[in-house]
Formats: sequence, structure tokens, C-alpha cells
Amino acid sequence: MDSQKTFSPHVLIFPLPLQGPVNGMLKLAELLCLADFHVTFLNTDHVQHCLLRHTNIQCRFIRYPKFRFRAIGDGLSEVHPRSGDLFMELVDGMEVVTYPLFTEMIGIPLIYFDTLSPCDNLDAKITCVPGMEGFLRRRDLPSFCRSSDLTDPIIKLVLNEDQELPKAQGVIIHTFEELEGTLLSHMRSLCPNLYAIGPLHTHHKVRLGSSKAIFSNSLWEEDKSCLAWLDAQPLNSVIFVSIGSLAVMTKDQLLEFWYGLFDSGKLFLWVRRPGSIAGDCTESMIPVEPLEGTRKRGCIVGWAPREEVLANPAIGGFLTHSGWNSTLESIVAGVPMIRWPYFVDQQVNSRFVGEVWKLGLDMKDTCDKVIVDVPSRSCTI
Ligand code: UDP
Repeated sequence: MDSQKTFSPHVLIFPLPLQGPVNGMLKLAELLCLADFHVTFLNTDHVQHCLLRHTNIQCRFIRYPKFRFRAIGDGLSEVHPRSGDLFMELVDGMEVVTYPLFTEMIGIPLIYFDTLSPCDNLDAKITCVPGMEGFLRRRDLPSFCRSSDLTDPIIKLVLNEDQELPKAQGVIIHTFEELEGTLLSHMRSLCPNLYAIGPLHTHHKVRLGSSKAIFSNSLWEEDKSCLAWLDAQPLNSVIFVSIGSLAVMTKDQLLEFWYGLFDSGKLFLWVRRPGSIAGDCTESMIPVEPLEGTRKRGCIVGWAPREEVLANPAIGGFLTHSGWNSTLESIVAGVPMIRWPYFVDQQVNSRFVGEVWKLGLDMKDTCDKVIVDVPSRSCTI
């Protein structure tokens, strides 16, 4: 009896080594620690190094005696810059490193954590999927559904995932019933052990209390100076611009963004992640007019404390690449969105935000300066 009382399950959590999955899974890990689970969190050396460098993660988790970090390589060379468009390179590298590891784990129950939205789990016949009829066009489908080239690496990855998925005892998804109930019911008819556990940062906040609510899981150094800048701006006056941790824009797109912000006449906070502009683009290449015209109206940082920024009352709108974490964070904060989807699930996320949830504008059809203006912060959930 005694041994039963003290038994607590041990979970190994292993995220794809990218900002979105690492952020969500660290929050899940902390919630499991609070529920008295043993947790081993497996990072890549690079991710672990970034977390130790830019966050207080070690102090934060030290209070959970049943938690430990472990790290392995990511299959890329030590001198690889790990910036720019590296998604597929990382996936390939990880496959090589993890294959021997996971073949040893046969017999251990497997739970699949989908950190994308369920609306990305489409097959070609979208007219048959309840909750998706009538409004999805081909260009709204996830990028991997729009190609018929079966040698496309992202299609291969998705097909491989589909083969592996039935081996899982359960699937957890980062969403919530009120947002995607119809789709979740449809998915449960195919996979009964499906659990919607989002938005994780809200549960995290509830369990850890509001004073300690915002803990950074950032792989880049957060520039908190933007919070003081925001505090000095009027209510709902600032457009927040951020394209997440993976998207890369060309110099032409950068110029459209810049002119759009300039022409809008609005205040803006712009996150320009190091490596997020393709090629060697420096400010000296930006024409003087938009550069000078926006100088007094904007704050530009390399990486921002996102949840704190979105919660700031000065933020009136969010120009986002439509990553799923960004979408959930914006919905929770009640900030309307302008959407510039980049890849994977972002096209379909963007269409849902515009057409179904009516929480923003989808600009996938026109990425130009005319669209970049601030809608008022009027929608809440
Ligand atoms: N993020 C952040 N600071 C920034 C930009 C992004 O903390 O300046 C975080 C954001 O809160 C989100 C994650 O990075 O949790 C990005 O994930 P998402 O799924 O939105 O997009 P991805 O980066 O995977 O394309």
C-alpha cells in the first residue's frame, strides 16, 4: 500500500528543438511537476545552452526534486549557425540522432503532443470534415497539403508522422474545446484518446499564481526595454510586429512591412529576430523616407518577452506570421491580428482566424503595405 501511495509516474518529454515546441512543453513539464510526476526533459545541447544563457530556467526547476534536464546532439555540426531557414535541416539531423534512442524504448507508452492547431490536420477532402466546410481554399491549406510532390521533404515528414501516430497511446493537442470543439469531436471519432490541453500558458498562470506567471522559455535574449517603451504609449495605440522563431522575410517583403508601418502613421513595436531577413540586409539599404519617418514612432528589438508585450494595454493589434503559439497567445490577450502566414500550418491558422473566429485579417493574398494598419483592440474571447 505504502509503495502505491508514493508511486508517481515518470514522463520523458522530448520537444522538437524549436522555440514553439520547447516553450509549450516546458510549461507542460512544469504542470506535471506540480502534479507530482517525475519528469525528464530531453533537450538538444544547443537548446539547453540557449535556455541556460537567456533564462533562469535552472533556478526555476530546482524546486522540483523529481525533475531533471538531459541533453543530446541535434545532428548538425558544432559550427552550424542554427539560424535562417533551418527547419528541414534540423528535422533530418534529429532523425539520425534519435533513431537509435527510440528503437530502444519499445514497450514504453507513447503520447504524441501536437503543438500545431487541429485545423492543420486536414486531408485533401476538406468538404467532408465537420467544421471546415465551405471556406477553405486551396491556398489556405497547410503548405505540405498544396504540393503533389511526394519527394517534398515536408510531405515526407508528414506522411511519416501519420504512420507513426497510430503507435501512440494518446494524442494531446495544444488547443481548447471552446475554440475548436467541432474539429476535436471529429478527430476523436478517429482517435478517441485525444485531449485538448491548451492554452498552456493560461493553465500555467493559474497554477503558479499571477505574480510568478510569466517565466521565460526563450532561446534568444529578451529585450525587456520594450516594456518601458510600451508603458509610455497610449492605450491600444501600438501595433506589435513579430514573425516568430523560424519565418524569414526577403528584402522586398521587409520594405513592404516598413512602408506599411510608415504609411499607417501608427506606433509600432517590431521584433526583428537575428537572421530573420534573407541575405545581407542592413538598415543602410532601407530608403531614407520610411527609415526616418518611422524612427520616432517605433521600437525595434531582437526578441521580446511576448506574453508581457501582448498583455500590455498599449498594444492595439498584432501583425503576426500566424504561428500556432502566437495565435493562442493573441487570442488569450484579446488582441486582434493581421496575419502574414509563412509556412506549415500558418496558412490554415490564418484563414480560421479571419473567417471562422473573426479575430483578424488574413493578408496571405496581398503582402503589401496597404494592409498594414491597426485595427482597434475590440475583440476578446
Ligand atoms: N516568441 C517570443 N518572443 C518573440 C517572438 C516569439 O517569446 O519576440 C515566442 C512566442 O511567444 C511563441 C514562440 O516564440 O511562443 C513562437 O511560436 P509560434 O508557434 O508562434 O511560431 P514559430 O516560431 O514556431 O514559427
